[in-house]
Amino acid sequence: MKKDDCIFCKIANGEIPSKTVYEDEYFRVILDLGPATKGHALLIPKEHADNLYELPEELAAKVLPVAKKVAAGMRQKLQCDGLNLVQNNGETAGQTVMHFHLHMIPRYENDGQQIEWVPGKPSQEELEAIKKQLTE
Ligand code: 5GP
Ligand code: ZN
Repeated sequence: MKKDDCIFCKIANGEIPSKTVYEDEYFRVILDLGPATKGHALLIPKEHADNLYELPEELAAKVLPVAKKVAAGMRQKLQCDGLNLVQNNGETAGQTVMHFHLHMIPRYENDGQQIEWVPGKPSQEELEAIKKQLTE
């Protein structure tokens, strides 16, 4: 289903033009208008889902094979040295467009970008408590 007021629904379904680098029945991959690096692309399902939580399982299962195909093309054609996949869910996590999308960010030596976090230093007890919380 499409959502009327969603810009990525319109882009994914071709109602708003975009620089499309891949398209199939379920997805469109477009160049990001505010790229982190050359070739920064967004893999967008044509069906609306706000985020990963809402994405139907069948569609979720199709995301990575498409990403893998596009990643191979990026490596071959852009000669990038690496690739970051980034996927934000919720405002707190940095999501600004509330239609699921996977960032594909080709990386180049000395590209000046940082996709990093400050590592914590949890004790074994803290790790154990989190493990319990997640598995019990
Ligand atoms: P988020 O922060 O939600 O994970 O990422 C949204 C991304 O969409 C941003 O990187 C932003 O540059 C990109 N973006 C927002 N609006 C448009 C648009 O209309 N067209 C394209 N190609 N990218 C967009
Ligand atoms: Zn949408």
